[in-house]
Amino acid sequence: QSKLLPYAFFEGEFVPADQAKVSIATHALQYGTGVFGGIRGYLDRDGETINIFRLPDHARRLMQSARFLRAELPYDADRVAEIIVELVKRNAPTFDIYIRPFIYKADLELGPKLKGIRDELAIYMIPLQEYLPITHPIRLMVSSWRRVEDNIVPSRGKVSGAYINSALARDQAEECGFDDAIMLNAAGKVAEGSGANLFIVRGGALITTPVTADILEGITRRSLLEFARDLGIPIEEREIDRSELYICDEAFLCGTGVQIAPIGSIDGRPVGNGQIGPITARLQQVFFALVRGEESPYQHYLTRVKIE
Ligand code: PMP
Repeated sequence: QSKLLPYAFFEGEFVPADQAKVSIATHALQYGTGVFGGIRGYLDRDGETINIFRLPDHARRLMQSARFLRAELPYDADRVAEIIVELVKRNAPTFDIYIRPFIYKADLELGPKLKGIRDELAIYMIPLQEYLPITHPIRLMVSSWRRVEDNIVPSRGKVSGAYINSALARDQAEECGFDDAIMLNAAGKVAEGSGANLFIVRGGALITTPVTADILEGITRRSLLEFARDLGIPIEEREIDRSELYICDEAFLCGTGVQIAPIGSIDGRPVGNGQIGPITARLQQVFFALVRGEESPYQHYLTRVKIE
């Protein structure tokens, strides 16, 4: 179980995290009418700075997700980012953290609807190391659960209730002895992991599904496409067939929690030689050098918060 950092943002104020509590009748608790974000803050190699990865982009995506819920809040993305920086300062962590902003329907109202129900913003933080292994390859299975389709619940938003879908797939995978699941979309094409986007490598090209394949518009995904392009690696955003998973040379999951997790096998079939592939390793290098505060052409993606 994760331990909350001491302070949270709740109902417009910074409060001790154990005081940030809602009623059992809260709309979001009953109907899943919330949207959330997931942001990482990495301890810089200087030991006194938290490097938040792409904070403005995460704040923007959160507000974009909130639009699906017709949320009305007195904050814009810039203000949410400022509050997050302030909360990091108050918590003053000396370790890697995960930041979870949450916009939710806070009224105690009966009935599934969106309009006219009061919205709130809450933010908490927890320590977070690895969510999935990154130094050795993971074992995945293709889930029998299909990824929630955009015509059912907006897939490109991080909608709380929709994560039942991820949870069903993840549990199934774990109970079958795998680390995580790959989900196909309703059309039967590869979508993504239970909480991460998917890349494969074939013939030296880095391939990932388009954002119209019922996936979350991942910020790590977008970053890695940029890093790969700058490294001169050919990139393709196109539909991926299930059978390509069985013949690709490399594959990895990527996301804020997952970071970059190399895939060693899918449905028991080795990916490449079953080891971490060269393109995966190269992208890991670029990513971790950046977030740890080493010299990097992507430093503009960090919000550096000095811990006093
Ligand atoms: N897909 C899903 C379903 C996710 O929950 C996440 C994690 N936010 C991702 C992809 C990766 O997105 P990001 O890189 O923005 O964290």
